[in-house]
Amino acid sequence: MSACPTDCGRSVALGNLMCRQCWYLVPADLRAAVWRVWRQLNNAVAKGMDPRAIETLKREHAEAKAAAIEFAKRRVRQPELFA
Ligand SMILES: [Zn+2]
Repeated sequence: MSACPTDCGRSVALGNLMCRQCWYLVPADLRAAVWRVWRQLNNAVAKGMDPRAIETLKREHAEAKAAAIEFAKRRVRQPELFA
């Protein structure tokens, strides 16, 4: 178990991006984007696609994850802005 990246004080289960509570602070479309790119990346790796396409998907996935974490962090720090 590692610490949740939003600094909420909870821990994260292995393989998860953040704790369950923080994950559901992220808007549904952003959560869906993280999963969509993750599936595309796994498919690309499984099908042995062009390494450059895989690199692009890896970058997109990293960006989607970072955006989700950033959003959850803001909500953890300033919940009143999202009430
Ligand atoms: Zn958390």
